[in-house]
Amino acid sequence: MSKEKIIEIYNKIKEYDRIIIFRHFRPDGDAVGSTKGLQRILQLSFPEKDIYLQNDDFSEYLAFLGEEDKPINDSMYASSLGMVLDTGNAKRISNQKYALCKELVKLDHHIPLESYGTLEWVEEDRSSTCEMVAAFYEALSDKLVIDKEAATYIYTGMVTDSGRFRFRDVSDETMRLAGLMLRQNIDTEWIFANLYMKDFELFKFESFVYQKMKITENGVAYIHITDAIKEKFNLTMENASAAVSYLDSIKGSLIWVAFIDSPDGTIRVRLRSRFLHVNEIAERYRGGGHASACGATLLNKKEIKKLLSEADALLKEYKSTHEGWL
Ligand code: AMP
Repeated sequence: MSKEKIIEIYNKIKEYDRIIIFRHFRPDGDAVGSTKGLQRILQLSFPEKDIYLQNDDFSEYLAFLGEEDKPINDSMYASSLGMVLDTGNAKRISNQKYALCKELVKLDHHIPLESYGTLEWVEEDRSSTCEMVAAFYEALSDKLVIDKEAATYIYTGMVTDSGRFRFRDVSDETMRLAGLMLRQNIDTEWIFANLYMKDFELFKFESFVYQKMKITENGVAYIHITDAIKEKFNLTMENASAAVSYLDSIKGSLIWVAFIDSPDGTIRVRLRSRFLHVNEIAERYRGGGHASACGATLLNKKEIKKLLSEADALLKEYKSTHEGWL
């Protein structure tokens, strides 16, 4: 099934002189890694084609992977193939000019909320979109070219989206494809240092989160990072949003959530779980993502209460009907 899709996508790429690659806004390692990795593979494999990355925003913590392309002329879209990676629904595409492209390929591993491509390859069981790009390369390795730079991008996204190869959707295939990237002699120490070393001040914020975090009756851990807290610690939206990862290993707490005030007055939700699925909660609040890692948008504090009580009820139900959770 995936081999057929891969060949279809390869043939589609061959039809075009220009390809424009897109990802979701507020990019994570997988969004940046998969798009930059694919761009590099296509540039090496088809030097006669123009391959552009056109996105409207960026994430500071991934700046070590290098810059993306400057905006191209709008008139160039109409004769181009667009490729959108790591994005479940069209509203989340970083650059809404994607719609000007002649045809659109969707390549993604999120739970499909919406179909928007003329050609779609979606595998929600894959641990990352980068894993799919690696599989794409492997299936066509007699035709495509990879190098250390491309493998660095792809490996970075495989690491970040799989929680450093810890999450349930990591398979033997994931490890094999990660091995294929390692064969390019990438510098994993450099990648890990760039991804996970933090400024001194951020540890102060982390300790603040541990002091202020709360837990509901049945074990949903949560924290609300308000504008006042962001100001106190001089946090970017990115740094504030990292709070969700600090809550991730509390015994008995199989669901954890960070609420972060957004500059537009809404509240960003980052929702995580182990053993049980929380994506349906996210979908009820203008969100989506993966079964155990998803996001949503709330309009006010009342919705925080409501979401927490739904998560609490879900966890209560799970605990009363299952054994063996910690
Ligand atoms: P985050 O907490 O932002 O890291 O999101 C976790 C996963 O859910 C990522 O794969 C996101 O792309 C996805 N996601 C986050 N927010 C939304 C949303 N509002 N709608 C759809 N998917 C989302």
